[in-house]
Amino acid sequence: MKTDSFLTLARRFRAIFFDSYGVLKVAGGKVEGGPELIETLRNEGIEIRVLTNDSSRSQSNQATRFRELGYQSIRSSDIITSGMMAKLFLKEKITSGKVAYLGTEASARYVLDAGCEAVAVSEVTNPDEISGMVFLDDEGFDWNTDLNAVINLIRNRNIPTIVANTDYLYPTAGGKVALATGGIARLVESVLGRKFLHFGKPDTQMFNYAFEDINLTDSFAKRDVLMVGDTLGTDIIGGNKFGIQTCLVLSGNTSAKNYNQDIVRTGIGPDFVVESIGT
Ligand SMILES: [Mg+2]
Repeated sequence: MKTDSFLTLARRFRAIFFDSYGVLKVAGGKVEGGPELIETLRNEGIEIRVLTNDSSRSQSNQATRFRELGYQSIRSSDIITSGMMAKLFLKEKITSGKVAYLGTEASARYVLDAGCEAVAVSEVTNPDEISGMVFLDDEGFDWNTDLNAVINLIRNRNIPTIVANTDYLYPTAGGKVALATGGIARLVESVLGRKFLHFGKPDTQMFNYAFEDINLTDSFAKRDVLMVGDTLGTDIIGGNKFGIQTCLVLSGNTSAKNYNQDIVRTGIGPDFVVESIGT
């Protein structure tokens, strides 16, 4: 159902989970009217969390970026990243040895914060010391040599291999897309015939984490919560499966022209559709 005003819709809920890219932010910066909308919701006492499949930067880095864009009230503790979910897994699962990673040095923070020793895949000298492999970011490595290094590192060994950002693609300027971490991992999975451990939407860990987090201070039922996202295959199906209401925005991955077709083709139906959160 197409709804006119996002604010009118939002006021029917007590908590809102926002995806970041394509919803609060777009290629050019903030989404028009986004910061004002968030301030209004805050002032009305509506709980806000940001659920992002971004394991390239920490919560505080992302909060700083939001403030630069005009989102004054988004704190780092409001931001829940897929990197955090991978970190929680590593913390419990990897008790000895080093963790190899693909990504930038900044993204390796999630490995270090899990209490593990991080080593860039290009720097691995003794594969026997490696007890886990993490796909963190699509930058910070040489796609040719380092992807081959990953394949050689894991192909004959049974070590947990983790994908900390499940997105296949991300939108860039001019309506184009670029290959994201989840897409790179999928490529490696397909050549090795393996299935890695994926963290991030649409899997339920992030929704669970966010729901438990808002319930620390007050009591929320699932019917009190709305998930807002621009991607049917992550945000919307994830919210639907978790059992909360979902709203598709047309300011990111899903275009105003094709969204009806996309919904029919994928069978993933949002409860609401709006142009953007600023409308
Ligand atoms: Mg998005």
